[in-house]
Amino acid sequence: MNFDAARNRMVDEQLIPRGINEPRVLSAMRKVPRHLFVEEALQDRAYGDYALPIGEKQTISQPYMVALMTEALELSGSEIVLEIGTGSGYQAAILAELSRQVYSIERIASLALRARKVIEVLGYKNVDIKIYDGTLGWEEKAPFDGIIVTASAPDIPKSLTDQLKLGGRLVIPVGTRHFQTLIKVVKKKDGLVKMPLTECVFVPLIGAYGWGE
Ligand code: SAH
Repeated sequence: MNFDAARNRMVDEQLIPRGINEPRVLSAMRKVPRHLFVEEALQDRAYGDYALPIGEKQTISQPYMVALMTEALELSGSEIVLEIGTGSGYQAAILAELSRQVYSIERIASLALRARKVIEVLGYKNVDIKIYDGTLGWEEKAPFDGIIVTASAPDIPKSLTDQLKLGGRLVIPVGTRHFQTLIKVVKKKDGLVKMPLTECVFVPLIGAYGWGE
């Protein structure tokens, strides 16, 4: 299988027609080898228009969802970004292409360790992954220009909006355990501005300010 061709097709057929148009986001999606973030048996399907299992009952998000959430963060290259839910590490690699420093938190150790390895093999030096409950954020590294939550929450955790810079963007799927709305939050001087982006289905965010086990 020609992975480079499959990746360009993914961008041309799944992302551009659905309205993803930020050139930096599109070029990161054309560049990062998504197939290396899934197990070998699934590599031929890595550029398909769907989420895929990554073990531990978790998934790597659909390419369109990764692109949409990334675009919503409005990254120009100088930002410090926090990701909750490292999973495979793919979204973290996309963010690494587009920002100065990525901090990513994963609660399942085996996933975090594997993601760290792939990120290292690919040569990214600006990604820091820790094993922890991400609903608490990463206090020592705050405040962030962007926060992306790649698991679904019952509500927007205040712990996370507190760690957002003024003018910073947060994207998070909020709803029930089975169905959510992707929400973009911008922190302004006079409060949080919330915009719904799309309907979606993510695995649950489990932790102090997420769902129970
Ligand atoms: N961004 C990932 C998608 C991961 S799926 C990728 O690109 O592959 C969501 C991930 O969130 C799962 O790996 C799950 O274990 C993790 N997760 C759920 N609750 C969490 C929490 N409280 N803190 C950190 N990670 C969490």
